[in-house]
This record gives sequence, C-alpha cells and structure tokens, in this order.
Amino acid sequence: MMQSRNRNRDHLNLLCDIGELANLIIGSTDIQGFLQQTVEMVAHHLNANVGSIYLYDDTTRDLVLQATVGLNPSAVGQVRMKSGEGLVGKIFESLKPICEGRASSHPNFKYFEEADEDPFESFLAVPIHRGKEKIGVLVVQHEHPDYFDEIDVMAMRAIASQLTGAIENARLMIDQNHKTVPSRGDDLMERLRFIKGKTASGGFAHAPVTVLKADGESLLSHRPDSEFVSAPQDFLKAVESTKQQLTDLQDRLAQRLPESASLIFEAHFMILKDARFVDAMLTKIEQGVSVPEAVRDVAGHYMALFSSAPSAYLKEKAQDIEDLARRLLNNLCKNTSEDTDHTEGRIVIARQLLPSDLLKLASEDIKGIVLVSGGVTSHVAIIARSLKIPMVIAERSDLMELPDGTPMLLDADIGSIHTRPSETIVQRFEIRNQTQKAEDEATRPMPAQTKTRDGESVKLLANINLLSEIKLAKDLNVEGVGLYRTEFPFLVRSNLPSEEEQYLVYKRLCDEMGDREVTIRTLDIGGEKLLPYIEGIKEANPELGLRSIRFSLHHREVFLQQLRAILRAGAGVGAGKLKIVFPMISAIDEFRQARHAIEEAMVDLARKKLPFYPAPALGAMIELPAALDIIHELAKEADFFSIGTNDLIQYMLAVDRTNERVAAYYQPYHPSVLRSLHRIIQAAVKAEIEVTVCGEMGHEPEFIPFFIGVCLRTFSVDPHFLRYVQETIVDLSVSDASAYAKTLLAEPTLEGIQKLLRSQTERHRHVS
Ligand code: PEP
Ligand code: MG
Repeated sequence: MMQSRNRNRDHLNLLCDIGELANLIIGSTDIQGFLQQTVEMVAHHLNANVGSIYLYDDTTRDLVLQATVGLNPSAVGQVRMKSGEGLVGKIFESLKPICEGRASSHPNFKYFEEADEDPFESFLAVPIHRGKEKIGVLVVQHEHPDYFDEIDVMAMRAIASQLTGAIENARLMIDQNHKTVPSRGDDLMERLRFIKGKTASGGFAHAPVTVLKADGESLLSHRPDSEFVSAPQDFLKAVESTKQQLTDLQDRLAQRLPESASLIFEAHFMILKDARFVDAMLTKIEQGVSVPEAVRDVAGHYMALFSSAPSAYLKEKAQDIEDLARRLLNNLCKNTSEDTDHTEGRIVIARQLLPSDLLKLASEDIKGIVLVSGGVTSHVAIIARSLKIPMVIAERSDLMELPDGTPMLLDADIGSIHTRPSETIVQRFEIRNQTQKAEDEATRPMPAQTKTRDGESVKLLANINLLSEIKLAKDLNVEGVGLYRTEFPFLVRSNLPSEEEQYLVYKRLCDEMGDREVTIRTLDIGGEKLLPYIEGIKEANPELGLRSIRFSLHHREVFLQQLRAILRAGAGVGAGKLKIVFPMISAIDEFRQARHAIEEAMVDLARKKLPFYPAPALGAMIELPAALDIIHELAKEADFFSIGTNDLIQYMLAVDRTNERVAAYYQPYHPSVLRSLHRIIQAAVKAEIEVTVCGEMGHEPEFIPFFIGVCLRTFSVDPHFLRYVQETIVDLSVSDASAYAKTLLAEPTLEGIQKLLRSQTERHRHVS
C-alpha cells in the first residue's frame, strides 16, 4: 500500500461528527463551548496541531480569534485583524480558501505575537460565509511543511458550509452578549433580550409583537351566563352552525394545504358527530344546567380524558376539543362580537393557540408566532410549518408581559428570540433574509426551452457533483445532466466503492433524471486527488502524473468495474439518453482504448446475463492542448466533445488552477485559449457531433456571447447558474454574438481582449 498523505485523516467521520455538532448548537446557549468543540473536532480529525475560528465583528470591523486549540488560549479575543490583513484576512476578503505548505513565505503572511504560531508551517483555511455575507474563517495548521492537500481543502469546505448556520448564530449571540441594548433600567427587557426556544416552524421574522391574553378565558368563562342563549333548540342551532363553520374552514384550508387539511379538523368532526357529546350537553341543559356550563362540563370531561392519555399525540387532541367548545360557545353567545386583537403584520405571542386560531391569524398575515407552552408536534406547529409561518416554542411565561408593539426578531430556524434587537443584528438578518429570498427565487422553474433573441435553440444542462444537487436542477426544469463527476463517492471513502455501490449511485442519478439525458464522466482521479486505498507512488508533479483516463487505463479492473456499474445503471434508460465521457483525452489511441474497455465491460455483462444500456454515446473531454492538432480526426472517433475549460486553461497556460500565487496567470481570455475553443467547436460542427462546454467559462457573462458567436449550442453549468445563463442567452442575437466573437478572435493581445470583454460586460450591465 502506498503511503498516502491523507492516510492519517478521517474525513468521513469528521463530516458525520460535524453534522452532529451543528445539531448540538440548536439546543445550547454555550457559544464559546460550541466553538471550542468545533475547533477541537476539526483539528483532531485532520490530525492538525492547530484549529482556530475567527469571526467578524461588525462594530470594530475586525476579525477576532474566538476559539483555538494549539495556539495560546489567552490569544482568544486578543488576536484581531482587518479584512485583507494577513492570510486569514485575505481569505475573508476574497472568500477563497488558502492552502499553503510554507505559510511564512506567503506574501500575505503576518505574524501575531500573542498567538505563538511560529512553529506551524502548513496552513489551510476556508471562509465561512452565506452567499456574499462574510461570517468568519476556519483554520487548521500543522508543524510540518506541505502537510495539507486538496482533499483536506474539500473536507474543510464541506465543514465550513455545514456549520455556517450554527456559526452565524454563535456570532450573533456573541454580539448580543457584548452589546447593551438600551433598557432604561427595564428588568423585563433585559431578561427577555435573548431567549432560546424550540423550533416549531422555521423561518425568520422581524416585527412588533402582539400578546394574545386569552389565558383562562378560552372557554369564555369571563362572560356571565346571561350573555348566552338558554333554549335547547338554540343550542342545537349553534351546533349546526359550528359544523358549518368548520366545514368552511376546512374548505379554505384545503386550498392552501391540500395534503393535510382533512386531518386537521378530524377530531373536531369526530366529536361533533359523536351523539354522546351533544346528547350529554343537551341532557344537562334539560336538567337545568345553564347552556355555557353544560358545554364547559362536557368539553372539560373529554379534555381531561385526552389530557391523561399516555401518548403525546392524544394529549394534544385535548386542544382540539377546547377549540371546538370555544367555537360552540361563541356561537351560543347572544352578542357574538369576539374580542379582536390587532395581529396583522405582527409576531403573535400566546400561551396557547388552537388550530383554528392559527388559521384565522394566518389569514391576517401574521409574521411569526411565539408560544409559551406546547409541543412541536402539535397541529398548530404542523399547520405553521405548512403555512410557512415561523414559530418558536419557549417556556417563558414572562414573554406574556411584553408591552404590545415591542420589536422582536425571530430566528425560528434555530429557535432564537431577540427582543428589542440591536440595529446590527437586524441588518445581519435582513441580509440573510435577502440571500434566502434570492436562493428561493433561483429555484423557480425556468422556461423549458432556451432560444436566442433570433430564435436559435440552445441546450442547457447541469453539472452535478452530488446527488443532492439533482433536486435543484430538476426544480429548474433542466434538460439533462451534461456532466456527472463520479469522483465524490470514491474520494470520501476509505476503500474502493464496489461495483454494486457505484451502480446504486448511478442508478439513482438515471432514475431521478427520468427521460432526460445524462452524461456520466468516468473517474477523473489522480494527481492531488489520490485515493489512499490504491497503491501508487508519490509523484513530484501530480497534475502531470498518472491521473484521470491514464489512471483508469492503468487500473483496468477499477475502470471496468465503474463502466459495468454505469452500463447497468443505464438499463431501461431511453435510447440516446445515456452518454459516457472520458476525461483528459490526449490521443486518438487513448480514446480507442477507453472504447475497448466499454466493449469489454459489455461482453462481461452479457456473459453474466445482466441487463445494461447497449449503445451509450461515447465522448471525449477536450481539456488538453495535445488534442488540438488532432481535433478533426478525434471528432470522427468520438460521438461528442465536452470542453473542460478549467483544465484546458491550466494545461495550455501552464498555470496550476488551484494555486493562489499564480491566479493572475490563469487567463480564460488568453488569445490562445479563445482560438483553441473556436477550433474545437468548429471541428465538432464540421463532423456534425455535439459539443458542450462544461468548465466554469460556460457561465461567465463575458464568454457566453463568445460561445454563442462561435456556434456552441450546448452549455453544462452548475445548477445555480442555469437561470442566469438562460437569461443571458435569450438576450443575445446570433449575429451580434458572431460579430463579437470575430473581434475577440482577431485580437492577439491580452490587453486588447480585456478591453473588448470589459466593454461587452458594460453593455450587458447597461441592458439588464
Ligand atoms: C474542466 O476541466 O473544465 C472540467 C469541467 O472538469 P473538472 O473541473 O472536473 O476538471
Ligand atoms: Mg477537467
């Protein structure tokens, strides 16, 4: 077995533990403890000497060390830096990770004396952010140089994204603890400044409060008997109108909650239809008990029965009976004008809410709910979730004492209640809310067809890395998957995934995509993405080493296993819908060897009598300059081309795509890159095979018109760029785009091309 640089790391367990940690915070207010546990866990799993978290403080505009293991503990709260300052500040500013084998020689390195960090040479840090909102930086360090690698970077990115919500919350609480809210000596406000409750329905609300003080009065016991009807026939009439009201409510609800409306009033109807319920009341009335008393007696009996039931579910049915009885009593009132609280646009605080109260409140467009008692499985919570009303349950009776109109901020996703929140907290939540809205907006389905302004059809496909991304792609109405990167199941494991395991993953992909096309790329592994469980030799230049298709052809059994898994997953997929693409093809011979492997896999499967996809289109990723001079011949061999601009730029310009130091040399606009792209697309058009761009250039605004102008008609991009790409394309005309492409192709200098690109971007901004 080879000595992997990653051998002593345990990324899979790390991710599982981090998932648990994120849950921990939800039930905790010990923020410092949470942050400390986080850094300890990260450092432990990555076998690092140091783990630290820096969070941004809006007031001082500093990044502050908030927790560390390995650095001097007294540096917590002391080490501060501005955005852009030092390595941590640089990561925060650019929102890009830095992985540095010799940190002290990095131009951004800055020494902080308080932290005692001189012995640590290897440095890896990732930003913590939500969209454009910057939250902080997560860092690991190790005493040995060149300790961290690309897989560690991936793991750290995954951790940072998993913990974003929890860390964001931690930062808020730290802020809240340090800031004094003007309380004018108001003890109540001070006590209620920050409360942690339980999430009943997620979401965010910022609004004044209304406290519903129906406590002890829900069965209208504050009203004298004289306010109610007394004749048995009037009682029966009220029973009928209650039934009618409930039917109306259910009908209204069915429009908003078709799947659960019938369940919500199930108990109400059942009880109303139970003759004993109404009969028992009638008997009492006929015996001389007042009408409201009779209703309260009988309802009270049923409520007690349900309340003493062992199951929480049945216990909560007692509320349904109370709701029914109150409704009935209301209908029995001679003067039915109910006390009405002003609730529109408010966060409603109540000791208890009944399902029908909630429906009434929802129709008044309340912003959120705080209940000071109740369970998260209650109907109210279920309805609140379905109605998307944020709701928190907090066992704090003193909330009922809050003056009407007190500003409140509800972060129901994590059960936090901020009373009279500071301006900073409000602003931060508003930004988060906007980001959330933008994300929601991005998932609106797009028009199924994409056409340029002058009617030319363009196919839009999605790049998928994780199966969880399929949902977004489908929600957006994508035409198919243009690139499925198969590396992930291989990378996160500690042994090779079996053919069966791979089959299940690919099958799920094909099943989810139904009759849409799917292109699966064979393993693009090697280089820095080494598999610790495969024997190998450490390479001095891994990017130029035994990677990608070379790796697959070299480890033929691994390759055949993957091909069999893909072909089996395609059994039953519609004709022409499953495509397989080989990465980093450098020669026609290499492409033929890969095709032979497919033929061999098919023979294997036929011999085993396993069903498989019989005729996948076979494509070549064009991402090596070596493919350029044989591009016409290659176009006759391959069924399609997929252009990997990320690697094409890297190999054409000799710039490591992951190295920050040479980032300025990574120039997608380099004339050689643009002219090469043109040649590749021309060759495909001439050979009448499909050509797709699946690298990052495909979603960049200044290059979309270039691609359209050089006759590219298929784009494959990350799902969250799909809408943007479509909107850009429908604004273009092929003739304008061709003219633009021609000028770009004619320009031999970087500077000249940059000017042209800038003017195109300006024009685009102007138009949109
Ligand atoms: C590319 O190189 O452009 C590409 C799409 O593949 P990857 O980014 O996975 O190398
Ligand atoms: Mg590539």
